[in-house]
Amino acid sequence: MSIPIESLSNQALGTCPPRDSAAAASGAPLNGRSYVRGETTADLERVTIPQLFRRAVSRHGSRDALVFRGSGERLSYHEFGREIDAVASGLLALGLRRGDRVGIWSPNRYEWVLTQFATARIGAILVNVNPAYRIGELEYALNKVGCKALVLTPSFKSSDYLSMILELAPELEACEPGRLDAARLPTLGCVIVTGADAGPGAFTFDEVRSLGGPAQRQRLQAIDASLSPDDAINIQFTSGTTGAPKGATLSHLNVVNNARFVTDRIRLSDADRLCIPVPLYHCFGMAMGVMGAVSKGAAMVFPGEAFEPRATLQALSEERCTAVYGVPTMFVAMLEEIESESLDLGSLRTGIMAGAPCPTEVMERITTRMNLREMTICYGMTETSPVSFQSLVDDPLDKRCATVGRVHPHVEVKIVDPDGNVVPVGERGELCTRGYAVMKGYWGDEEQTRESIVDGWMHTGDLATLDDEGFCSIVGRVKDMIIRGGENVYPREIEEFLFRHPDVSVAQVFGIPDERYGEEVCAWIIPKPGASLTEDAVREFCREQIAHYKIPRHVRIVEEIPMTISGKPQKFVMRDRMVEMLSRQAQ
Ligand code: AMP
Repeated sequence: MSIPIESLSNQALGTCPPRDSAAAASGAPLNGRSYVRGETTADLERVTIPQLFRRAVSRHGSRDALVFRGSGERLSYHEFGREIDAVASGLLALGLRRGDRVGIWSPNRYEWVLTQFATARIGAILVNVNPAYRIGELEYALNKVGCKALVLTPSFKSSDYLSMILELAPELEACEPGRLDAARLPTLGCVIVTGADAGPGAFTFDEVRSLGGPAQRQRLQAIDASLSPDDAINIQFTSGTTGAPKGATLSHLNVVNNARFVTDRIRLSDADRLCIPVPLYHCFGMAMGVMGAVSKGAAMVFPGEAFEPRATLQALSEERCTAVYGVPTMFVAMLEEIESESLDLGSLRTGIMAGAPCPTEVMERITTRMNLREMTICYGMTETSPVSFQSLVDDPLDKRCATVGRVHPHVEVKIVDPDGNVVPVGERGELCTRGYAVMKGYWGDEEQTRESIVDGWMHTGDLATLDDEGFCSIVGRVKDMIIRGGENVYPREIEEFLFRHPDVSVAQVFGIPDERYGEEVCAWIIPKPGASLTEDAVREFCREQIAHYKIPRHVRIVEEIPMTISGKPQKFVMRDRMVEMLSRQAQ
């Protein structure tokens, strides 16, 4: 049973102040309806990113701002601030202005963070380009938002970014740096390459650093005063499972406040050292990580250009980190590695696990093995800056495992049925978010924006439930649900179950089309190192333990799971491969 949101009282909708303070503080639902509103005791901060950074410098100037262990940079907030001004002046000298889009295509490197703050300093909009993108996707992304400049790393592992940009814009070979005129990238005028050798037609990052003179430096102050917290400052392409990527556009206000609330909940302070192994191109790294640390004056520790469990563990230990972020699969990988390392993780206290459901067993093991007794869970999406739910460090373990915590300050959430009616507490429905955190829109895509944000409510496409204390559980995705012979199957539930098998390291469950049942349940499983797990053994483990229709009909033992670079399993890739395998088998 559900009722239309319009028929809820103002009080239940949270538009009127008179709520009892305990309920308001906990964000508990009122009147048994799946609607919650975060507390509003602290005002939103109407500041820009440069203002936030300046505050960090004035309060914590001599403290460590960042450590890049791979390349060796170690800078205090003071030193980092000087570097930002130098690069920002260089960008002005290149002719870049407020509102211009500047792309960055690189793994986690110092220049990434420098570009993040230098672009914000002049009001240019940073465009995060996924390092896993290839030529077609890069072309789409740069043209979609009309990038004027692109900062890129020459290469990383098997990705030769420089060759790819040269293939896309062969005109680089013959142009002056900063004067590109490329047929396939009509707006791109300037390519900036990190490292010593830029190749033809491009600037090195170091050249840009020294391009700005006193005139540009003077202009920085005037620009600063002209920026508004409501300006767009960042575009992130959402890694949607289908269709073309969409450019979620965020403002200073979006990012600054979300970062602050996220790190409030883990009680981060200037005494903390936050390890950031998650990718910078994703909001987990650049917003929750970098901006969250800056909002508290904490130190940021980057273990490497991409996630490696051993390098991350070593960084945690040697840098005496107190906090760490990661998606669940990263923690699983670290737990496996930890057995063979003798490390002192005594300094660790807290962190954030997000991006995908966290298996209960993983939470229990990181609490004991990694000393992460104040670990929290976040839920959110790029389009909501990103976090809307988070547990508190002292929430009971069961709540920290089975739920994504309670609603964030200044955010409203409702859970609705397919007709848009708010469902009773405990019932499933689509999670919708409203408030300051909702993005400005998808860049250049009004129709998609209108479809996703209705009356200010961002429709997440995630299925969730709220309990009567306001704890939220993500139970699947509207589109991810498997419907087998009329029975709804939620992959998350089966994954949790499979995870209880002592030999299972990673389990992914998804549906494939089936003539008889409409869809069939499939599972891909990575066994723990050294375990000899068979497909039959997995099915046997399920037999009599879970409803027959939930038992995966097809099981595959695999060595790896296709992932996005931010660590999200790509179920659509698994689905396609599985269909192909089965059709080959049937021939
Ligand atoms: P992205 O925009 O790449 O951050 O992806 C957002 C999506 O990740 C959400 O819509 C959810 O489907 C999923 N997600 C994020 N956090 C969680 C979480 N804690 N538990 C389950 N799913 C999550």
